[in-house]
Amino acid sequence: MNTPLDRAACEALDHADPLGPLRDRFTLPDGVIYLDGNSLGPAPKATAERVARTAELEWGRDLITSWNKAGWMALPAKVGAKIARLIGADADEVVVADSTSVNLYKCAASALKLAAPREVILAEAGDFPTDLYMLQGLADFSGAELRMVAPDQIEAALTDEVAVLVLTEVNYRSGEIHDMAALTAKAHAVGALTVWDLSHSAGVLDVDLNGAKADFAVGCGYKYLNGGPGAPAYVFAARRWHEAMRTPLSGWLGHAQPFAFVDDYSPAPGIARMACGTPPVLSLVALDEGLNSFDGVEMAALHERTGRLGDLFITLADQRLAALGLEVASPRDWRKRGGQVSLRHPHAYEICQALIARGVIPDFRAPDVARFGLVPMFVRFTEVWDAVGILVEVMASEAWRDPRFAVRTAVT
Ligand SMILES: *Cc1c(COP(=O)(O)O)cnc(C)c1O
Repeated sequence: MNTPLDRAACEALDHADPLGPLRDRFTLPDGVIYLDGNSLGPAPKATAERVARTAELEWGRDLITSWNKAGWMALPAKVGAKIARLIGADADEVVVADSTSVNLYKCAASALKLAAPREVILAEAGDFPTDLYMLQGLADFSGAELRMVAPDQIEAALTDEVAVLVLTEVNYRSGEIHDMAALTAKAHAVGALTVWDLSHSAGVLDVDLNGAKADFAVGCGYKYLNGGPGAPAYVFAARRWHEAMRTPLSGWLGHAQPFAFVDDYSPAPGIARMACGTPPVLSLVALDEGLNSFDGVEMAALHERTGRLGDLFITLADQRLAALGLEVASPRDWRKRGGQVSLRHPHAYEICQALIARGVIPDFRAPDVARFGLVPMFVRFTEVWDAVGILVEVMASEAWRDPRFAVRTAVT
């Protein structure tokens, strides 16, 4: 892609970009360049009022009648259908429930059962920790064997012993994209199923689950989907599994008739069975608003903008930051890269703190990565330009060596 080489060119790009005005859908404080929408998406302007209305009128005035009257019970399916459009799924293949961690467990366990008597779960070493921890727990409780292999060993490790391949589509550290269609085809060729974690892809890439023939998927509501801190997550299951699949967490809201209050579990038809307990209504309406911020947005165009923002950052990093000791740790080809660009440095933590003190917010991922989320919904080209300029100043002045920047906080 063509990369502008001065600030005026970045301004011109921002001005001409038809997706530029999407930024107005969000509350973003002045004086801050927010490059961490990949960890916590910003608040859509409509969210505060929607949550307040739900609390004051639906809960405060109408009390329990709102489960029916305000459609609370239908929210997991309704919000799931909005997510479906972003990830190449049909509306009735996605439901909102629980957290990504819990959903990953449910999907991996479901796939394991469908692929019985196979007992091997294949995962990537270095994948997002909670995914690996949940699979370790599942292996412990089910007797399955978890194999974790390096990313370049995945294909070789796909043997006819494998029940399920569990992968995050975009690696949280490097931003590298796995080829979902190719790996799913390889898994299917040996008789294994796939579970894809879309936490770092949905909302910035043009994800196509059904095009890739994916079996199951999960993803996060509070990152690129802008659902707010701790927003509920979602589950996708391809329609061909809806009859046969079971969930290990067979709660009453995944029951065919939750209000029949019978003793025996019988699963709801379709994706609804992947729900477990009572939906978190206040969080769900916030997630619903997060998804409304995608109204009218074509994912292919958004994906392309993701690529252009990252290309600009990488070009500037090569020109101005490499000599200062910062190394680009993300793929250079935008088709292989998610919504972030990562820079590696032994003092990445301190560098991030020095940037935050200057109003540029990236995040740090141990041991040595500074992650810059270039979220196409609201990050401007001029902000990329300015952020790199501030980073040059931090490096050249060695401002990051100030001891206060070495103090570690609980959340990085
Ligand atoms: C953010 C993220 C999660 C988050 O899981 P929670 O259960 O919401 O804490 C899980 N997996 C991946 C790959 C993530 O990026």
